[in-house]
Amino acid sequence: MATIFSRIVAGEIPCHKVAENDEFFAFLDINPVALGHTLVIPKKEVDYIFDIDDPMLGRMMAFAKRVAHAQESAIACKRVGLAVMGLEVPHAHIHLIPITKESDMYFGGKKLEISQEKLAEIAAKIQKEYK
Ligand code: AMP
Repeated sequence: MATIFSRIVAGEIPCHKVAENDEFFAFLDINPVALGHTLVIPKKEVDYIFDIDDPMLGRMMAFAKRVAHAQESAIACKRVGLAVMGLEVPHAHIHLIPITKESDMYFGGKKLEISQEKLAEIAAKIQKEYK
């Protein structure tokens, strides 16, 4: 059965898309720990990120880098932090999180409550900056 993230790529489940190329897809996390929290996934289903072969992992990181630069331009932050866990969704993904302090990347706390309208606005801003 397709993963929830494959269903997002297929357009079966809605998302706030940020960027896409032929191999990878980026969209806002539904339970963000910070404004602009984005997930980068391969379109090909792979559960564990470190099972991805070296060339593809390199391309995924290069795609994530371009998304991160777009986030930096669109969202007030010092840097974009990167995390990989994959404990919840068995489809490899990189969390890209605009941060100004270490605690902005805390996953164990209460998630931000952001309206769908605001999420759409943030996604559009990042999308516009994606080169
Ligand atoms: P983890 O697998 O532990 O890295 O966590 C999975 C992440 O995916 C969490 O941050 C969730 O909020 C996020 N997530 C799960 N379902 C969706 C969805 N339908 N759209 C956007 N983000 C999602």
